[in-house]
Parts: sequence; C-alpha cells; structure tokens
Amino acid sequence: MKKSFLQKLCCPIDKHELEIRIFLQDEKENIIEGLLTCPSCKRYYPVIYGIPIMTPDEYREKSLEEPLLKKWGVQVQEELKKTHITLLEK
Ligand SMILES: [Zn+2]
Repeated sequence: MKKSFLQKLCCPIDKHELEIRIFLQDEKENIIEGLLTCPSCKRYYPVIYGIPIMTPDEYREKSLEEPLLKKWGVQVQEELKKTHITLLEK
C-alpha cells in the first residue's frame, strides 16, 4: 500500500480520517505492515502484506490479524494505548 493511498482511506464505519502506525515498509515507501486506527470510533485495522484489512466487525477474521498483532506486540499496545483503543477479544 502506497503511503499516498492513505489519504483516500477513511474509517468504513464512521468515515473518520484514519491514523497509521507503520511497522514495516519497503524502499519505495510502500507500507507492508502497520496498524490503522480510527480515533473517532476506536477501531483498529491492521495492514497485512500491504493490504489494509477493513472488514466490518462481524466479518473480522481474528486468526488473520493475530500474527501481526503478536509480531509487533509492544508497538501495537503503544499505539492502541495512545488512541485509547482496546484489542478485540480472542
Ligand atoms: Zn471509525
């Protein structure tokens, strides 16, 4: 996902602007892994393999998100704490 693409992204629930925490990017500034957060409705959306996972709550696949959240555990926690978001229950 190109960094510039971020400006076109908004929260699918309330259309609020999203914030990004980049965990991994390539030399062309493509975001490979990261975490999008919505300060408005307190949701988070992981970026996995360069793709923002922005499915509605009821279709979220926790097993898909888990490896990323685990891999970047401390940074994920920091980011969520900053925006007062709680992780989905397992
Ligand atoms: Zn939102």
